[in-house]
Amino acid sequence: MSTMVHDGRGPDRATVERLVRQVLRERLGSAGGDGRTAKPPRSKLVVNISARHMHVSPEHLEVLFGPGAKLTVLKPLYQDGHFASEQTVTIIGPRHRTISNLRILGPCRPASQIELAFTDGIAMGLDLPVRLSGDVKDTPGCLVLGPKGYIELKEGVIRAQRHVHMHPHDAAYYGVGNGDMMKLRVEGRCATTFEDIIVRVDPKVKLEVHLDTDEGNACDLPGASRVELIR
Ligand SMILES: [Zn+2]
Repeated sequence: MSTMVHDGRGPDRATVERLVRQVLRERLGSAGGDGRTAKPPRSKLVVNISARHMHVSPEHLEVLFGPGAKLTVLKPLYQDGHFASEQTVTIIGPRHRTISNLRILGPCRPASQIELAFTDGIAMGLDLPVRLSGDVKDTPGCLVLGPKGYIELKEGVIRAQRHVHMHPHDAAYYGVGNGDMMKLRVEGRCATTFEDIIVRVDPKVKLEVHLDTDEGNACDLPGASRVELIR
């Protein structure tokens, strides 16, 4: 929409509504865009469940898996360059409660971190704080066991806050910025609307919402008929 008719008094209500409908139609019409439109294209909304996992630093990887150890790809994830690795660890919480076969996601990160669902936290005897990935100050730790050694993680065990990864184009499309909160509507037999989906804008990512297993199970995400991000 590039033109607007003015009669000196501003557009009447019916005109405004017609224009809004036109804008919405044009935006929807640009899905899968042909590259000629000046408006931000609408990306396919992907919602994925992020099962419990560990991010590992290169130093910790070598302690756990031996000198020179590298993560190897089991399965690529939706975001380019990210993958579920073949490497798994066992974590041990207070009172020796354990979770085994905890998968490491690659690539390596500067700091190790473990993301669990609340259900996992209860099994581990840990009271998990809800945090953005990377924000691990004053969070619980645990013991991490690999095939070649163990580390005592002082902090870094969290429940990741539900979030949406967005390219700047997606942020423009939805009219949001980094750190904004959105809602995610999930329709289906366990229809649910999640609030406080935090927006994380990064030019290297594709549009993707991350829920944990508790959230994904609560709304029966695999059986969902429709998902929608709401500002
Ligand atoms: Zn994520």
